[in-house]
Amino acid sequence: MDITRLRGIGVSPGIAIGEILLPKRVVFTSRKEIIADDQVPAELERLQQALDRTRDELVRIRDGIREKAGPDSSLIFEAHLLILEDPALVSGLEAVIRDEKARAEWALSKANARFEQLFESLTDDYFRQRKSDVSDVLKRVYRNLENNREKEKAPQKPHILVAHELLPSEAALRLSKELTLGVALDMGGQTSHTAILARSLGIPAVLGLRDITRNVTEGELAIVDGTDGEVIIDPPPAVRREFQAKKDKYENYSRELQKTARLKAETLDRVRFVPQANIELPEEVALSLSMGAEGVGLFRSEFIYLRRESLPTEEDHFEIYAGLARGAHPYPVTIRTLDIGGEKSLPRLNIEKEPNPALGLRAVRFSLQNRDLFRIQLRAILRASTGGNVRVLVPMVTEIDEILEVKQIFADVQREMRRKGEAFDEKIPLGVMIEVPAAAALAEAMLREVDFVSIGTNDLIQYYLAVDRANESVSYLYKPFHPAVIRLIRSVIQAARHAGKDVVVCGEMAADTPSAVVLLGFGLRTFSMNPIFIPRVKKALRSIECRTAEKIAEETLKLRSAQEIEEYVTEEILLRHPQVFLTGQPLDASKK
Ligand code: PEP
Ligand code: MG
Repeated sequence: MDITRLRGIGVSPGIAIGEILLPKRVVFTSRKEIIADDQVPAELERLQQALDRTRDELVRIRDGIREKAGPDSSLIFEAHLLILEDPALVSGLEAVIRDEKARAEWALSKANARFEQLFESLTDDYFRQRKSDVSDVLKRVYRNLENNREKEKAPQKPHILVAHELLPSEAALRLSKELTLGVALDMGGQTSHTAILARSLGIPAVLGLRDITRNVTEGELAIVDGTDGEVIIDPPPAVRREFQAKKDKYENYSRELQKTARLKAETLDRVRFVPQANIELPEEVALSLSMGAEGVGLFRSEFIYLRRESLPTEEDHFEIYAGLARGAHPYPVTIRTLDIGGEKSLPRLNIEKEPNPALGLRAVRFSLQNRDLFRIQLRAILRASTGGNVRVLVPMVTEIDEILEVKQIFADVQREMRRKGEAFDEKIPLGVMIEVPAAAALAEAMLREVDFVSIGTNDLIQYYLAVDRANESVSYLYKPFHPAVIRLIRSVIQAARHAGKDVVVCGEMAADTPSAVVLLGFGLRTFSMNPIFIPRVKKALRSIECRTAEKIAEETLKLRSAQEIEEYVTEEILLRHPQVFLTGQPLDASKK
């Protein structure tokens, strides 16, 4: 028998087995229904009532979510209310009804098509995804045009939720910790709202499946493997048994790992280390803390820009930073200033397409050429720092002069705030990312100018080895254990320790168990990573003696290739502290 196996992106690990639930989709009409002249006022009234009902609904959802998940999670509905109340949108809909003598359904359908076209023409992937917010609001209004529409009943029994796309409000409403066993969508990726929510609720999810909705019917049995990014429709008993075993194993692992979240982060010989979280959205703070993060080691602030259609104001920045600082308090939150440019282009910022984006006008280079934007961001960070737990991190620094310029601007903004009597943390630490090899070579001098450094191994490896981090065809050359790479990283860690300053590794390397052991051995104590990996790394480092890690790390310097180093480290760990690997690798599929 043929079974259907579909591959997608595993965005929330774990296995779910259950019956499919396929919620009805709103389909915008493609038929223009004409009305008589004297029906126009009634049709306008009908639209107005649908808008009112939608507003009430959104306010209810916003308040409910705020209560359930805190103010940060309800921000999206504030945005939806703003979209709904946009006078241009409403007058545009009314104009279609009035001028074309068409039904409100047609006006909404036309508006939706126009927005879709507009967003599709944007080059930035993340930004393009924002069309779902507008579409979400329009669909809600469309549904509300039917006065006596059948209210969609909330599901009563456990199910696998299959849909084309889950709009942000639908994701917040439909995903239930108790009843949603798993999620499988045609659309979506790692940074979508559904992915984030599924992760924080612990619901296995596979997104980006393209056409799963066309391959299934309601009530059919399905397996969602969020770890490996696979969905299996109508599995025969043997496959079901195989996945049931995988599910049990995974759940045991997670229970084990979750326990470590509450345990002290120290090695067997009592050397303290600090796991922290790399996050892109304020909503991820709670999940990070529950995974055992002792603070946010990297907040990628560019996502503030990528998530909205207009430039964020100082107030927009401030609310997000203040929320982060409050959410993580008393732990620190490290806010990285804008790392935009290059491949993360933003039409609104008029960044030109560059022939060599990774080497172009990005990150601090962009901030120093757009000082007004930079000052707005710095002011907002300073205002959010009054709790004493905010740090500022500057990306992609290449030379000392850049730090000096940043410091000058930072001091200037502080002076201005003092003059106006605005409060901020006078001791707010300023750090730089070490992710350009030249900065690593200059670490000692850089450290004299800043309070801490953060090693961004993702970019550092890319630039040092001249291997595009996103190019599959050269990924075989992208080697964190390259002998040159580990020497460079070691030298930065040592420079920071000699200077008595904080050093963090915030690239993916910190989340890889053998690498984390070597980094510990080189003297690293703060490891910042995607929160999902914290329990695994914490458990691994709790299972080893720091002394052993030091010996292993020292030995790697005698080896000549990445492969030799990797084999040596793995074997040594297995020989001396096999428990390090006992957590297995079930979380790997969700690696960003
Ligand atoms: C890095 O380069 O390692 C890093 C953490 O930053 P990003 O992945 O955002 O470039
Ligand atoms: Mg980087």
